[in-house]
Amino acid sequence: MSAAKAVLAFLVGRPLVAILLAAAVVGVLLLQTHRQKTPVTHRTQHVSLTDAQQIQLGSQQYAKTLRQNRARIVSSGPEYAEVRRVARRIEAVASRDKPDFVWRVTLIRKNEANAYCLPGGKIVVYTGILPVTKGDAGLATVLGHEVAHATAEHAAERIERQHLTEVAAAIIAGGVAFTPAQYVRVVALLGVGSGLPFSRSQESEADHIGLIYMARAGYDPEQAVAFWKRMQRASKGQEPPEFLSDHPSDAHRVERIEGWLPQAERDYRRRS
Ligand SMILES: [Zn+2]
Repeated sequence: MSAAKAVLAFLVGRPLVAILLAAAVVGVLLLQTHRQKTPVTHRTQHVSLTDAQQIQLGSQQYAKTLRQNRARIVSSGPEYAEVRRVARRIEAVASRDKPDFVWRVTLIRKNEANAYCLPGGKIVVYTGILPVTKGDAGLATVLGHEVAHATAEHAAERIERQHLTEVAAAIIAGGVAFTPAQYVRVVALLGVGSGLPFSRSQESEADHIGLIYMARAGYDPEQAVAFWKRMQRASKGQEPPEFLSDHPSDAHRVERIEGWLPQAERDYRRRS
């Protein structure tokens, strides 16, 4: 028996090793970095996880979140109606950039001004954001921003930068080729609630794309400026939510948004 055959026989005799090998082979086959452009900002990016893989990764995390918060899910009443109404319009616009994403929104009763969108289109909103959004246009600002993180594939990009793409692919495949610590690291990069903050440039990009999305969905983009000012006042002295976590006191954010307003207003007028 040749040495290679002996090694193979050894490996095949051990199911766990075989599974690990299979996950590694599948991972390598599926993982081909492709060049693409972000929506609206047209930035060239390199991402290996496909849309289908991102949808799968987000869905797994979403199911877990819903299980953990089952008693706090809001599924009727005016707050629920508002979240559904605004989410539908933002999703319809974002779908043009990501036709395969499977959009869902869940409202959770939690006294925290936060919201997030998982890779692939699963959105979570906390009731604590609604006193700050103060109506549909404010909520559209938040949802536009969060959904932009998903359509611009920011989580996949972060996973790639941290060299965790193969771990993520194994998690998606339901494989075993990852350790609990690696699993925790990938989940932290998904942009869930109090996970690791996105980079400053990703936050800025989400602001830009989100502003255009809300305008395309028929919400006055001027309302975004008012919302961000309210949000900055409301979050003083508190744990900052996802969309403020990277630069809680960044006064330039509003200025940058004002710079994109003419572009957003063109889209808004075209629609209305
Ligand atoms: Zn953000």
